[in-house]
Amino acid sequence: MTSFSIQSFGCRVNQAEAFEWADTLQSHGLVYRSDSWRSDIVLVNTCTLTSRADRDVRHFLNKIGRKNPEARVILTGCYSERFLDDFQKNPRVWQVFRNDEKENLPYRILAELGFRAETAIKPFRSRALIKIQDGCDFRCSFCIIPAVRGKSVSLPEEKIMEQVRNYTKQGYREIVLTGIHLCSYGTDRPEEDSLVSLLQRMEKIEGLGRIRLSSLDPRFLNRKLRDVITHSPIVCPHFHISLQHGSEDILRRMGRKIKVEDYRLILDDLRQKSPYAALGADLIVGFPGETENDFESLVGFVEKSPLTYFHVFTYSQRPGTPAARWKQVGERTKKERAARLRELSERKSGQFRKGMVGGVWEGIIIKKKEGTAQILTSNYVSVHVSPCVAVERERVQVKITQSEGIKTRGQIID
Ligand code: SF4
Repeated sequence: MTSFSIQSFGCRVNQAEAFEWADTLQSHGLVYRSDSWRSDIVLVNTCTLTSRADRDVRHFLNKIGRKNPEARVILTGCYSERFLDDFQKNPRVWQVFRNDEKENLPYRILAELGFRAETAIKPFRSRALIKIQDGCDFRCSFCIIPAVRGKSVSLPEEKIMEQVRNYTKQGYREIVLTGIHLCSYGTDRPEEDSLVSLLQRMEKIEGLGRIRLSSLDPRFLNRKLRDVITHSPIVCPHFHISLQHGSEDILRRMGRKIKVEDYRLILDDLRQKSPYAALGADLIVGFPGETENDFESLVGFVEKSPLTYFHVFTYSQRPGTPAARWKQVGERTKKERAARLRELSERKSGQFRKGMVGGVWEGIIIKKKEGTAQILTSNYVSVHVSPCVAVERERVQVKITQSEGIKTRGQIID
């Protein structure tokens, strides 16, 4: 039996694509292996968001060349998109697919291998991911994504509904909706295919567990969308917002076209409407020209805000983006500022989880090993439970008993 593995770098959209390919390849006869060093086919979904991402991809490809030289290597994604010609000529690469060929990728592989047999599907992950939108129509001055993913494109509502029904039937209790710019969902389609109508239609799907939304752009988080995501019985109370910065000057130079005051209103409204929601943010430190004052504005804003955690990225020069030509902040300064923000994020996350101790929360078992389980609550807290007799992907009620440092413990309530 021909085996395959998938190495997905970068964002949730890449993960959602990998999730769908694993499903399709298995349902046509290939055997999924989580170990790339021993699979016959290694499918690599690459990322080029930062120079670190580029390095990780190159490192992985070299390692495959050493540890699994006989493997058929298939490349796709944003890094290979930038170097298509080179990879097409590279004898160590069996196939390269552009980003706009991803939809047919598994079928073209199957056709090359002549596969038609049915086999049992081994879950690729405990939560299902669906890419509902791709590309982006914005041009933030630091971002390379529009150059490698193209304009915003939405999946037809009917196709998404069908996928959600299928994954619900397959036993997935949580489905993550992803997009390069999720809030742009429907803006490229004639009919009123907005995120709001999509979520409202999903509420009627029988047996549906819960829906988690990936990153949301605050510029699109209008009152109507905020009302729906905070009151819908299916949407997880976990909102991850792409803030990027908290200094007016930096936001202007990033091309974000939003004011810090707007952020404050949106975050306060989400907190007021959903008291126990996890509120997360993407933040960039060390953006060209970021002064000590800009950085202190950012720290001051997030410290006072109801945010419960943030993902901190150090600015990375991306070829062809405007900001790459501007005066850069020193690497040491970037590192120091990132460390300070990450420490603040841990503190806020610790306070948030401490506030949940004693409460009972709805959760899903996302990992199970020798009688110990990791449960993800609807508001995005990872809880360790031992002993645990329930199985992976099962929906449970978990009582949080303790939260110290980064670890939160609990017990399952029948
Ligand atoms: S909104 Fe800006 S940061 Fe986000 S993908 Fe588009 S260009 Fe990049």
